[in-house]
Amino acid sequence: MKIINTDVVIIGAGPVGLFQVFELGLQGLKSVVIDSLSSVGGQCSELYPDKPIYDIPAIPKTIAKDIVNNLWQQASPFKPKILLSERVEHIEKQSDNDFLVSTNKNRTIHCKAVVIAAGNGAFSHVKLKIPAIEKFNESQIFYRINHLEQFRDQELVVLGGGDAALDWALSLQKIAANVVLIHRSTNFKASPYSVNKMRSLCEQEKMQFLCGQVKGFSEQDDLLTSISVSSKDGVSRRISLDKLLVCFGMSPKLGPIADWKLRLHQNQIEVDTQHFQTSISGIYAVGDINYYPGKRKLILSGFHEAALAAFSIASKVFDKSRIPTLYTTTSPVVHKRMGVQVELADLMD
Ligand code: FAD
Repeated sequence: MKIINTDVVIIGAGPVGLFQVFELGLQGLKSVVIDSLSSVGGQCSELYPDKPIYDIPAIPKTIAKDIVNNLWQQASPFKPKILLSERVEHIEKQSDNDFLVSTNKNRTIHCKAVVIAAGNGAFSHVKLKIPAIEKFNESQIFYRINHLEQFRDQELVVLGGGDAALDWALSLQKIAANVVLIHRSTNFKASPYSVNKMRSLCEQEKMQFLCGQVKGFSEQDDLLTSISVSSKDGVSRRISLDKLLVCFGMSPKLGPIADWKLRLHQNQIEVDTQHFQTSISGIYAVGDINYYPGKRKLILSGFHEAALAAFSIASKVFDKSRIPTLYTTTSPVVHKRMGVQVELADLMD
């Protein structure tokens, strides 16, 4: 088995994990980032990519997926290795105080420090629980959308009543041959604006809504051809389809983190507020996963925590009692690490 060597392993590629790459990079430290999801961005990408955010410092208004893109761009000069669709299972402290981090894909990474930026735990999509239907996953059944074009001119069924279900149904209605939204109730978690828009499109016969629950499916020649839906009125209907988009939301699970013998406060990892270190020296926790008195689960809190954790890790790795604060505006050391060319004239004035 090949072991990857790096300075720091970051568990979680949410906004805070991505910013941690940047802060470690400024300190001259290399990182490997691991996420159980198939793309970076954590909650921002999975739960509210197109929603506006107003409380990111110096950005009056943006949308969540743009924050993720910008964080990724900001971290990229430090060339982190990103391992996606991979869950960290174990952290083992070695006698020399280094760590071996291992994943569910039998990969092992050797590092000097670990930063847990795992949000609410490893995310996974809430699945459609119909026996044997999972064989159509990724061919006809999808839990997330990578390419809108795959739904062009398709008979599409969307399941769910939250923002993701409504947003996708409304967007895909413009390119699919037909869209049927199915939700178990007429109460929606989605925004009233989206629900009203959906109702208006149904009135115009541009899409359909059905209140009910999927109970079974039919197939022919290895293709999913229809689902059966039972409604509260007791009537069962068969809905033909080409593609099925399931938007039942994400379920976060603390999962393996609970077994790492870290001191927990309910489901969060206790840290000190000077270093953001956990009860195990060399293991840090930043972002939504950590707990300290006064903790707020906000992106900007995570950014601050990531900066201080990086200073602390640098002082450990380089065995220095104090790491100087270097400004990105003026420090040639930092510019070299970032690979940016700064003209002397830019530094004057
Ligand atoms: P996350 O974004 O949760 O990312 C953690 C990542 O770690 C996940 O991708 C997960 O898959 C991964 N992971 C966990 N365990 C493992 C493991 N064992 N192995 C591999 N990967 C693992 N905050 C604001 O500041 N302003 C807002 O306006 C705002 N609006 C919000 C709106 C909504 C609807 C929601 C749900 C949240 C909002 N938040 C907002 C909160 C904000 O999204 C979180 O504070 C932020 O995402 C936390 O970032 P994070 O990197 O700590 O964790």
